[in-house]
Amino acid sequence: MVYQANPARYESMEYRRCGRSGLKLPAISLGLWHNFGDATLLDNSRQLLHRAFDSGITHLDLANNYGPPPGSAEENFGRILREDFLPYRDELIISSKAGYTMWDGPYGDWGSRKYLIASLNQSLKRMGLEYVDIFYHHRPDPETPLEETMQALDTVVRQGKALYVGISNYPAELAAQAIDILNDLGTPCLIHQPRYSMFERWVEGGLLDVLQDKGVGSIAFSPLAGGQLTDRYLDGIPADSRAASGSKFLNAEQLTEQKLDKVRKLNALAQRRGQKLSQMALAWVLRDDKVTSVLIGASKTSQIDDAVGMLANRHFTAAERAEIEEILV
Ligand code: NDP
Repeated sequence: MVYQANPARYESMEYRRCGRSGLKLPAISLGLWHNFGDATLLDNSRQLLHRAFDSGITHLDLANNYGPPPGSAEENFGRILREDFLPYRDELIISSKAGYTMWDGPYGDWGSRKYLIASLNQSLKRMGLEYVDIFYHHRPDPETPLEETMQALDTVVRQGKALYVGISNYPAELAAQAIDILNDLGTPCLIHQPRYSMFERWVEGGLLDVLQDKGVGSIAFSPLAGGQLTDRYLDGIPADSRAASGSKFLNAEQLTEQKLDKVRKLNALAQRRGQKLSQMALAWVLRDDKVTSVLIGASKTSQIDDAVGMLANRHFTAAERAEIEEILV
């Protein structure tokens, strides 16, 4: 059956201006890092994309290496895009990135002009796209001159292969330099993509202020700390969870008793607020309007529904904020 998007999809989502650009992003975006590779049933990935778009989630975030195997998330997404979403291409903001290991040899990693441009060409082919909406440098490269990496981003915009560019995982000072170089080149940096959640707060130590000052948007990845800031692990590790999947990014050792104690306290507060912990954790990341969008992952459509449900209750009293700070100490 041909996919027909929900006609009411724009009614409940909030769209927020990305820095001082012309682009608005949904308050919630969907990342395809997990659950879109060859190990996932294509139909499940398809259902997730349908549910996201039907809920007003117009921004989908990919990278060259998402899978496993690397590249397969873009390929599978490309197939679903071709089969279901082509009529909606202009309603979507699709991003990709390069910066982590993608192919053998000296040109398949980090931040050279050679790697970035070749990688974006590959990503476009895998997804069957003429351009991506946002192309990111995925992580800082300590060896390549920053100017070269930023010039490569400028080039792909001038070639029409990306509409906007961004940086990810850059610390505050380096981000400021990158943003200045891009401004000088005439291709403003649209957005920065850092890790940010109740459990990972490094961006509060300067990065968010730099971005706000320079008019650059931000999109917080892993806002649920990969699922730790949900009710998923309150009673052990479910067999279908990320922590049980052999992931090197989330495993049983990370779910310490000390952390679970915080999760239980946060969960109790969320319940008093009449929402799920996952919803409170997302609302918290958006609390000061310094973050443009929260970039979630999902293995089930109900998790997308949970995220969108957050929008109905996303403000905090001063007492609630203070209680959260106490729990997180
Ligand atoms: P999250 O912190 O949102 O974790 C998502 C996981 O949490 C889900 O897969 C699910 O895990 C669990 N979850 C989500 N909602 C619920 C819920 N309502 N109840 C219970 N459990 C829930 O984000 P991710 O770590 O997945 O990262 C999101 C995106 O960020 C990525 O897809 C990618 O696009 C981007 N990213 C970028 C990076 C970068 O370097 N730029 C690095 C990492 C991510 P389960 O599978 O157990 O159901």
